[in-house]
Amino acid sequence: MKKLGKYSFGVGDRFMQEGPFQLSAFMAARELGVEITPVWNKSKREHQTVGTGPKTVREEADSAITSANWQEPYFVDADHITYDSADEFVPYSDFFTIDVANQIDAGVSDEELETFKTENDSYLGDLHIEGIDSPFQITHQFLELVANKYYRAIKEAKRIYEKIVAHKNHDQIVIEVSIDEVDSPQSPLELFFILKMLGEAKVPIRTIAPKFIGRFNKGVDYEGDLNVFEKEFEECLMVVSHCIANFGLPPDLKISVHTGSDKFSLYPIINKLIKKHDSGLHLKTAGTTWLEEVIGLAEAGGQGLDFVKEIYKQAMDQYDKLTGPYSTVLNINKNLLPSFEEASKWDSKKFVNSLNHDKNHTEYNPSMRQLFHTAYKIAAEKQDEFFDLLKVHKDLIGNRVFKNIFDRHIKPLYL
Ligand SMILES: [Zn+2]
Repeated sequence: MKKLGKYSFGVGDRFMQEGPFQLSAFMAARELGVEITPVWNKSKREHQTVGTGPKTVREEADSAITSANWQEPYFVDADHITYDSADEFVPYSDFFTIDVANQIDAGVSDEELETFKTENDSYLGDLHIEGIDSPFQITHQFLELVANKYYRAIKEAKRIYEKIVAHKNHDQIVIEVSIDEVDSPQSPLELFFILKMLGEAKVPIRTIAPKFIGRFNKGVDYEGDLNVFEKEFEECLMVVSHCIANFGLPPDLKISVHTGSDKFSLYPIINKLIKKHDSGLHLKTAGTTWLEEVIGLAEAGGQGLDFVKEIYKQAMDQYDKLTGPYSTVLNINKNLLPSFEEASKWDSKKFVNSLNHDKNHTEYNPSMRQLFHTAYKIAAEKQDEFFDLLKVHKDLIGNRVFKNIFDRHIKPLYL
């Protein structure tokens, strides 16, 4: 079986210019004795926004690997694929994030419900999971809720998995199932039944991406109660271990944290818990590298700063169009967005301080940072100019990309 490794990290790179700098962060971790497998992820939504296809991610990853002479495993993730979008990713991917969000809450027939309840009635009452202090209480109502919410979603995961393995050697790929792009989070007990059903359906998942409690907004820190997160995350780790031992799931199955970039207040908690329980972890990032490109151009000043200002102008003009698709993962206070007239007068330093993710800086503006997160579409429309500027300021931006991935993500999470 192709090894994903205990620790892996999804490095999205929307414009595919930073692969070697991203990889250098994994090399730096390796030099410190920590193996982390890089996984380049890009979803269909990102491809459509930028006007690229799955082949380009494979090319970027292969080229970064070759030029750095990286001898360890690496993967290319078909991120958030559905039954219909799977085909175009299959030839170029070896990591498949099967997204079944559209089948969650799909309901069940009376017959399916009866089957599900009969299969699970031995769980009624107290369920003890090793490592969790108090038992979960399982009622008839809870089993009905689980069936209505997840029964069809698991069937869909199986259908998509079968489509993939019709074309791919199952030993050479990694399967993730994602259920994060939904309105409400899954509890650790719901995760138990989701994994049980996936095990019984013989979908050999290696990573599972639940939606955790609290808000995971794009490009900014976690919003929520850290104690509640800590308790639930630890229970999820315990549930995963239990399900590996009991439901025939792959022994290296681990949690995947989506929209994982910039969640700086969670990293010490996650780090502590995965070490405490000797658990693996996959964490997926995407837009954080694009934001470093933006900040790097602002830092460069001159035409770079002018380009960033132009993006801001258009982002303000197209606010609804840009933020609409991300509405569940943004928390922008429009009153805190400076007008373009005001921002156009800013110098390089003021722009950098506003967008750089440093919560202690008085000029840091998370609303503006989130808006820029969604604004990559505008850079895609001016791609020639954008790529020319990236080339001119390659080292400055590359250094920012490396530092962001290594110092702010990999170090606090895994080291
Ligand atoms: Zn996701």
